[in-house]
Amino acid sequence: MPENLSSHLEKYLPLPVLALVKIAGKEASELEQELYLVGGVVRDLFLGRANFDFDLVVEGEAIKLARKMAKDSQAKLTIHSRFGTAKLDYPSFSLDLATARSETYSKPGALPTVKPGSLKDDLVRRDFSINAMALHLNPQRFGELIDLYHGKVDLDNRLIRILHTKSFIDDATRILRAIRYEQRLDFKLEAETEKLLRRDVAMLDTISGDRKRHELELILKEDEPERILRLAEELGVLSQLHPSLKGNGRLAKTFAKARQIGKRTSLSALYLCLLICNLNEKENEEFISHLNFSKNSVQAMRQTLQLKAQLHNLANPGMEPSDIYRLLHGYSATAIQANALVSESPVTSQHLNLYLNKLRYVKPLLNGEDLKKMGVPAGPKIGDILNALQKAKLDGEVRTRKDEEKLINGLRLNCVCKPPLSSSKRQIPNNI
Ligand code: ATP
Ligand code: MG
Repeated sequence: MPENLSSHLEKYLPLPVLALVKIAGKEASELEQELYLVGGVVRDLFLGRANFDFDLVVEGEAIKLARKMAKDSQAKLTIHSRFGTAKLDYPSFSLDLATARSETYSKPGALPTVKPGSLKDDLVRRDFSINAMALHLNPQRFGELIDLYHGKVDLDNRLIRILHTKSFIDDATRILRAIRYEQRLDFKLEAETEKLLRRDVAMLDTISGDRKRHELELILKEDEPERILRLAEELGVLSQLHPSLKGNGRLAKTFAKARQIGKRTSLSALYLCLLICNLNEKENEEFISHLNFSKNSVQAMRQTLQLKAQLHNLANPGMEPSDIYRLLHGYSATAIQANALVSESPVTSQHLNLYLNKLRYVKPLLNGEDLKKMGVPAGPKIGDILNALQKAKLDGEVRTRKDEEKLINGLRLNCVCKPPLSSSKRQIPNNI
């Protein structure tokens, strides 16, 4: 007799979701369909981990069931007829419904050819045994576990196992997915799976840059991506993304430090810049075009290396704040942060952090409009005076509005090239 997980469902599903999947099961029965909860959410139900991706598979037309459910509730319905899928958005969660399908691969790395199929077909096409379990939701069989690949045993033994020996050849994104789950769940690659992964690692070349980038981005969103990258290096996966990428000890240290500084920039964007930090410009460009990174990522990655090449200019302990500002203004916060983490000079790191924490926010109290009101004629002179004012503010030579007005009055009469104030002691001000 199949194992029944209804008590698990009752215990771990949020109450409104539980109520809805019961209704969904009933409505499926009325349409003479079979309905299942599948994939990651079933895995995480066993592990007691939160998962709010509620994926439902329908033997029958998923869109028909979704329409029926939308009619009986307040849910917002989105339909993708081409894929036979639908999404129901409720106020605090959503359900994804898909028609059970079978997939075949015309050649390694190609997107699969898809046609409607049975639940069994739908489970065969999945990546790992732990992701290939389903729970029946129709009332007569509510909570029944369908576990064709012994995913439950693998969960108990903490193993990532592919379903057949050609799995990584069919779809090499599974190589990146395998190491992501291995580290996230603290599991091991099952021995044969590891052997096949090593054998098929070059199959990563058969999938598009976009798909590889997407998987790398998912890796960088995990709690400790450095552990995944280290394993990726060990298994020869990282060098398939670019031969010069390294996932070794130094990377682990900088990633851990990156987490300690808190939310100044997006952590995954910062990890990416740390990952490419040891590439040269040519290698970085190869990696960028190979994985087709987005405009924002490309900018941060390029700037990380450009700034790295300039770091020696920031190592002088006697630098004025305005000198630091001039050198760093225009670089993205992520590129600066990455360099602050990898720089071996404490003075340089201090200057980079000073810019990130303070200098980049420094602004004079007076702006162009105020200058015009003070009688400065419109034109390039305004820009020059504003720059001089900014410099004086950064270096602590002006603090109050009065100081600023005094400086401007001096500058509009003299040549702006003259240093604005000379006598005040130049220190990094604490109050900016
Ligand atoms: P996560 O918590 O990372 O979202 P998940 O298991 O929900 O984990 P998804 O990427 O959301 O993973 O995919 C949902 C399900 O689709 C998986 O559980 C797996 O069964 C299947 N799947 C996803 N990608 C693949 C793939 N490349 N090959 C085969 N099956 C896949
Ligand atoms: Mg998911």
